[in-house]
Amino acid sequence: MFRCPACRATLPWGATDHQCPVCTGPLDFGLAGVAFPRAAISTRTGGMWRYTEALPVFSRPVTLGEAFTPLVPCTLGGREVLLKWEPALPTGSYKDRGSAVLVSYLASLGVVEAVEDSSGNAGASLAAYAARAGIRLKVFCPASASPGKLLQIRLYGAELVQVEGPRPLATAALRGYLGESGVVYASHLWHPLFIEGVKTMAFEIAEQLGWRAPAAVVMPVGAGSILLGLHQGFAELLAAGVIDRLPALVAVQAASVSPLFAAFARGDTEVSPAAAPRPTLAEGIALPAPVRGRALLAALHASGGSAIAVSEEEIAAGVRHFGRAGFAVEPTSAVVWAGVEHLLAGGAVRGPGPVVAVISGHGLKAVPAIAQLLN
Ligand SMILES: [Zn+2]
Repeated sequence: MFRCPACRATLPWGATDHQCPVCTGPLDFGLAGVAFPRAAISTRTGGMWRYTEALPVFSRPVTLGEAFTPLVPCTLGGREVLLKWEPALPTGSYKDRGSAVLVSYLASLGVVEAVEDSSGNAGASLAAYAARAGIRLKVFCPASASPGKLLQIRLYGAELVQVEGPRPLATAALRGYLGESGVVYASHLWHPLFIEGVKTMAFEIAEQLGWRAPAAVVMPVGAGSILLGLHQGFAELLAAGVIDRLPALVAVQAASVSPLFAAFARGDTEVSPAAAPRPTLAEGIALPAPVRGRALLAALHASGGSAIAVSEEEIAAGVRHFGRAGFAVEPTSAVVWAGVEHLLAGGAVRGPGPVVAVISGHGLKAVPAIAQLLN
């Protein structure tokens, strides 16, 4: 069920390893016999769990009532683009898709304690689902993370450990604790079942478009779980004969921390750590060294997609533009505003269907940062 793409080691269902025990690389997960019985699906409650033939089966899934998130038209770059409005999920970010599947798995195994490191949103999301499942969670975050996200973690009853310095130091602190404690690392960066949950975003987009693929999907990318989830989801729809091509997957990074953009521009097959990361408004994607760099590049190439980097000024402008269009988006999500403009200006959208832009998190999570942009 779990497989290492580097050394081909396999782990059975029930394993709690977050990485390959042989070569320490990230693991993949694959389900056999994925299917999309459209007539049956149409009779079910909206939301990610309606795709039951394409998800791991749990006797008691851990759910907080995940909504079928809307696709809302909005004018970006002079064209109508559909916003995939993920703030409609229970904790206000797309991470709930991954947390729902990962925590359902851990709960099914009887796990009672876990740890996670996060720039904020994944920690808040896992904290909510862990609370629902009765799992004790400890979350390591940068002390500089948005107060709203840190507050959510505490509100849901998780133990918050604030780590001074840039994002990688929170991971380093977690690694130290992990070595001593031996508890399960419920990592949204490493665990393949997190991506397994995020892939349901692709299923929803396809179903909302009448079981067709859009021309392109534009998304913020740091660790890249949206990119990998969408790639896996659309690839499964393609393999099942539901759609006839993959949409172009377009990764948008903050120029201040843009290792994937740099690797794609150079034509590399692996992502090297960002040479000189700088502070960015887009805290949720300020990750200088993504865990699954090779897979991120492969997803861009396989889908005919691309990578775009946007400036801090463009991110700030994106927050304001979205606000005036009626959408409160966090700065991390606002990268897609300029990302779509660059994409359309380059004339790179091929194929029929709309352009979809993923709004990953709600603006109310980042109130102090947005307040500064309005002054
Ligand atoms: Zn391996």
